[in-house]
Amino acid sequence: MNAPRAPLRPLDEALDELLSQARPLAGSESVSTFDADGRVLVRESLSALQVPPQDNSSMDGYAVRSAEAAQAVLAGLPVPVSQRIAAGSAGEPLAPGTAARIFTGAPVPAGADAIVMQEDTEAAGEGRVRLLRAPQPGQWIRRSGEDVTRGAVVLQAGERLSPASLGLAASIGLDRLDVARRPRVALFSTGDELVMPGQVPPERMAPGAIYNSNRFFLRSLLLRLGCEVSDLGIVPDQREATVRALREASAAHDLILTSGGVSVGEEDHVKPAVQQLGSLALWQIAIKPGKPFAYGQVGAAHFIGLPGNPVSSFVTFLLLVRPFLLRLQGASRVAPAPIQLPSGFDWPRPDRRREFLRVRRSDDGSLALFPNQSSGVLTSAVWGDGLVDNPPGQAIRRGDLVAFTPFSELLS
Ligand code: AMP
Ligand code: MG
Repeated sequence: MNAPRAPLRPLDEALDELLSQARPLAGSESVSTFDADGRVLVRESLSALQVPPQDNSSMDGYAVRSAEAAQAVLAGLPVPVSQRIAAGSAGEPLAPGTAARIFTGAPVPAGADAIVMQEDTEAAGEGRVRLLRAPQPGQWIRRSGEDVTRGAVVLQAGERLSPASLGLAASIGLDRLDVARRPRVALFSTGDELVMPGQVPPERMAPGAIYNSNRFFLRSLLLRLGCEVSDLGIVPDQREATVRALREASAAHDLILTSGGVSVGEEDHVKPAVQQLGSLALWQIAIKPGKPFAYGQVGAAHFIGLPGNPVSSFVTFLLLVRPFLLRLQGASRVAPAPIQLPSGFDWPRPDRRREFLRVRRSDDGSLALFPNQSSGVLTSAVWGDGLVDNPPGQAIRRGDLVAFTPFSELLS
């Protein structure tokens, strides 16, 4: 007989509880700035210099004193060119009554207060230039420190580094960054029906057998989150072997992640094995897809059991495991904020649970719905480019604003 059904838990409550278990991992590592994309910074980065270091030209052209240049333009007189300053060299102070040939990125010479871009000039014989337009003071000059001032916090602790943050770190001279160490994750699949692609060709699959698809996306999702993954395959079919496999995995991993076998009343070796070795709580989360979810501990390792249905597994990973793994790395921002977009579809019969619908942005800016929202239909997650978070019991009418989160944010 099945145990009485546990009450459904709101997703936010489950996430809060899960995050409260995710104490940031001890230990950090110093990595080359080149290799820090996607990693979480453990301490703030302060700048020891101004960026740009000096006032410099944002155009190819001529550095001038703007008041003198305005007079020369009025009088129609050419101006002598007294020096040439390329990026990487520092010029001399600008001689009165002259212009300096200057190139993008070159420091503005002392005395000059504007750049006349090349397009607003004309050659006027040997060593002279004719200025065609009077410059505004400050024109085409990038100010020292306009990007970063000395002493400023450039990157915050808990920030997940992006390609642009690597560039910014480099711009203040950092060739190495201290980042949280990679979470070590042991990945198991459960289910006697599972067969690995390559093991049996499609035409020889036994009745009832299916290919193990969860293993592929879970591994990729973990890698994208900076984890070191030990893919331990399909859990052995006996209690003792399962206990041994879990005990071994718990010694060397921060998280043991499984998919399948967390439904109510299911025959499965993982649940009793986790209970024997540590603790296990089975949650019924009020979301669709993805209701069953397990959290527990095996020794010092966390244990998370995801549902087996591929879309449930995929969505619960994005909503719960992703924030958990980011928090283990000390990330301050663990979930993207949804954006409001108009629905391009009607959803007249909403579920009593909060739903995460697979949708795609159309050219007109509205959202199109994948026709089959079943938790087994992985095509929906490939066709779709994000999720609509629909509150419990809420019908949607075409044109209503709905909360959309793109996969591009959830998968990074
Ligand atoms: P379970 O959560 O174990 O009851 O599984 C629910 C459904 O998901 C069943 O139809 C399973 O066959 C399927 N399933 C479980 N694990 C996987 C997997 N790794 N890949 C594909 N389908 C799976
Ligand atoms: Mg199963």
